[in-house]
Amino acid sequence: MQLIHSVAELQALIAQRRSAGDRIGFVPTMGALHEGHLSLVRLALQKCDFVVVSVFVNPLQFGANEDFDKYPRTLGIDANLLAEHDVDVLFAPSPSEVYPISSPVTQLTAGSLGAKFEGEIRPGHFDGMLTVVNRLFDIVQPDYVFFGQKDAQQVALVKQMLREQISSGSRVPIEFVVGPTIRSEAGLALSSRNKFLKPEDMPAALSLSKALFAGAAGKNREEVLALARAEISPQAKLEYLELVDADSFEPCEPGLSLAVLIVAARVGEVRLIDNVYIDRKS
Ligand code: AMP
Repeated sequence: MQLIHSVAELQALIAQRRSAGDRIGFVPTMGALHEGHLSLVRLALQKCDFVVVSVFVNPLQFGANEDFDKYPRTLGIDANLLAEHDVDVLFAPSPSEVYPISSPVTQLTAGSLGAKFEGEIRPGHFDGMLTVVNRLFDIVQPDYVFFGQKDAQQVALVKQMLREQISSGSRVPIEFVVGPTIRSEAGLALSSRNKFLKPEDMPAALSLSKALFAGAAGKNREEVLALARAEISPQAKLEYLELVDADSFEPCEPGLSLAVLIVAARVGEVRLIDNVYIDRKS
């Protein structure tokens, strides 16, 4: 595996591989890798000939009072894990490589879909996320990209961005692959921030996935939400619990579309988000 910090070096290598006919797969991450990230890496290795994983803690998607400085950074460990998986490239650029002062990067806005739920609680977060994802797609020019269902609103936004760009002809088609949420044995969705949970926080943290699994059995919207709400620990400071359409994030009934039951809460020092898809059509 090659560890590359420079955009020019990465692009030269990818150009070689593309001309050799390789399918290029790309997994963007913020590092502190866990099994959730690695499941996406395995999917990418199955589908593609040449796999690039990026580790970049994107300053643009953190609010002023958020945990940018505290976000876990474990590049050496990440590099070892990715090398063990036979990833081709770990791309770990500096902020000045991603956002060069000499050529300003296109700033994207996430619009109404990006103003709901996570976007309402973290203003500007999705603008920053889309801006970096778009910039990274421009750098890597992948054939396939891999995102986790764990961040369901991010999935909806990146899908929407790609749909618009591909239909307007501003981007060549990219295959968008969503990997399932990987959980601990007890059900907690893996997250780089989980390492900040204290042992005494665990029951409240686990109550979120319990709520989602209970809610998923509900017959209609009201029952889904009531069954879920009943499981949330009083120690979890609930921010939202909703049943929404997986593309529009508008409230919906289960069964009419691909519905997703979403939850966010603060537990101890940590903000947790989780979701389950409720697919009654298949
Ligand atoms: P992050 O490093 O948190 O920006 O996440 C990078 C990618 O990994 C995103 O597409 C996430 O949705 C995905 N991801 C994070 N946690 C999980 C998980 N528990 N299961 C599956 N994918 C995940």
